[in-house]
Amino acid sequence: MVPVHRVPAFTDNYVWLFEYAAGRCAVVDPADAAPVLAAVERLGLRVSHILNTHWHPDHVGGNLAIREATGCTIIGPAREQPKIPGIDRAVDEGDTVTLGEHRGNVLFVGAHTAGHIAFHFPSASALFCGDTLFAMGCGRLFEGTADDMFRAMAKLKALPPETRVFCAHEYTLSNARFAVTVEPDNAALHARFEAVQKARAMDEPTVPFTLAEELATNPFLRAASVAELAERRSAKDVFKG
Ligand code: ZN
Ligand code: FE
Repeated sequence: MVPVHRVPAFTDNYVWLFEYAAGRCAVVDPADAAPVLAAVERLGLRVSHILNTHWHPDHVGGNLAIREATGCTIIGPAREQPKIPGIDRAVDEGDTVTLGEHRGNVLFVGAHTAGHIAFHFPSASALFCGDTLFAMGCGRLFEGTADDMFRAMAKLKALPPETRVFCAHEYTLSNARFAVTVEPDNAALHARFEAVQKARAMDEPTVPFTLAEELATNPFLRAASVAELAERRSAKDVFKG
């Protein structure tokens, strides 16, 4: 399995180092340069690329300093190009990103932000989805509609269930607390909720996870209609859990 290293940043961000070839990596959504540069030094990796999923500062804040230090190429969403610091290559749905022997497909999943993209590398069984799909949750609708998010979920649902999902935040526990209120009779969800509570109590990460787990437990991925997704998203926005 292709190694993907986790770099925690700020309060709950995860930056991912996709080691697509021995000693070489792409950095996904660098919130901050310092922890990323420290991690690549410790792991003995060379940074060849940065992949950005969307323009929010906690996903692009490290772009310029990392490029300055490594000379890497920055690839990000075409529809948010003016907001991505240092972008070298703008990509959109249907484009591919080649890293060594791995070919990634760019998926347009605008909803959390209007131009949000995700990167799917089938040969690595890896999806980097930023703030679109979370464990048992989805991103807030800052710039898009429930309809947009429903379409994004449909696109992600179609990927192979064994896909490892690398999202950008540790929001799992809060999402799980909400999810059990939506589907109180879902046994798989309750089992996952318990596992997640144990992991978080020991300060262990809950990301990555598989798409199969989401298909069984994620109330946003499982929403049957746009209206149902909209209702769940609004309820989560004000959920105190
Ligand atoms: Zn965001
Ligand atoms: Fe974020």
